Amino acid sequence: MMIVFLGPPGAGKGTQAETISKEKKIPHISSGNLLREAVEAGTETGVKARYYIEKGLLVPDQIVVDIIKERILKSDCRAGFVLDGFPRTLAQAKVLDEMLKNLGNRLDIVFYFSVSKESVVQRLSGRLICGACGANYHKIYVPSSKNGICDKCGGKLNQRADDKPETVLERLRVYHEQTEGLIDYYQKSGILKEILSDNSRIDMITKKISDTIKSTMQEKSLIGRGVN
Ligand code: AMP
Repeated sequence: MMIVFLGPPGAGKGTQAETISKEKKIPHISSGNLLREAVEAGTETGVKARYYIEKGLLVPDQIVVDIIKERILKSDCRAGFVLDGFPRTLAQAKVLDEMLKNLGNRLDIVFYFSVSKESVVQRLSGRLICGACGANYHKIYVPSSKNGICDKCGGKLNQRADDKPETVLERLRVYHEQTEGLIDYYQKSGILKEILSDNSRIDMITKKISDTIKSTMQEKSLIGRGVN
């Protein structure tokens, strides 16, 4: 099953994508993580990407598309994937559709995480990321058991440079300007499912996503077998 998680920064996409990826045994592909890995590794792509990431701007389509294409073509993606943070522009969405079409496939579901601006700012300002394994925490909502240390690998937890308040506001502006239009795009193709991610518990949201995947896949298999 091919799934996209769409929504503003801080909507909880990464946290949910990690859980759903384990549950469904399909890779979690985060464009942000792939770009940050390139930045860390100091590759040519990473050097270019860093400039945009630090300003809270979108990395140019071609750079992100190349990274995502390379990842999706790996053999572990044959049974599906959870795409988190990609696509973020109409051009990226169209490339993704085309790429999947060429593979004889298409997206099954796009989950749109809707969340208020206040929640986003609150979530991002408390977010901590493990420098070693990339696991996500939150100072209040998802604390690690030892202060500043990752429960999973013992790595050091840091605040992301682009989670500073002024960069967060810029990322939200960019989201409204360049990404929000995708809600309409996927609504029209009939695969959009909205997830209210404001006040619900993390495990309740996971259940909602998981149930929606199950019912959508059941419906698809019935339609595939000619049952209406
Ligand atoms: P994220 O971890 O998804 O919040 O992404 C962090 C940053 O990486 C974003 O603010 C962008 O600068 C860049 N980025 C991630 N995904 C994309 C994308 N699909 N298109 C353009 N830039 C991206």
